[in-house]
Amino acid sequence: MTSQLMPQQQATLKTALLNRFQSLLAEVRQDLITSDEDRAALLADRVRDVGDESLADLIVDLDLADTDRDLEELRDVEAALGRISVGTYGTCLKCGGPIPVERLTAYLTAKRCQPCQRMHEQNFVQKGRASL
Ligand SMILES: [Zn+2]
Repeated sequence: MTSQLMPQQQATLKTALLNRFQSLLAEVRQDLITSDEDRAALLADRVRDVGDESLADLIVDLDLADTDRDLEELRDVEAALGRISVGTYGTCLKCGGPIPVERLTAYLTAKRCQPCQRMHEQNFVQKGRASL
């Protein structure tokens, strides 16, 4: 564990992540309830009844186009909270180095330090082009 975050910083970031998680959940819940899609309409009753935790599980199993962006972020936030609980939050997935707290504050779900992120995005773009 190489996280350089002070306990107080981590606590602040965790609170921000939990708040983000709750508001994303509320957005997705609203999307599902108000959606005209048949599948979402069928789910709306279930969505109204389940608790937030089961809703998250339910949502992760779904693939609803109109909530995709929120879902993706929801998964990212969930994963970040998971990293906090196992003590790897703030540690770059790629190089194992610490992710600066300024970067985490600006981008709560950051998985990589900036140099690794830049490299990752370059690779992604190149692979994307090559596969076309
Ligand atoms: Zn890195």
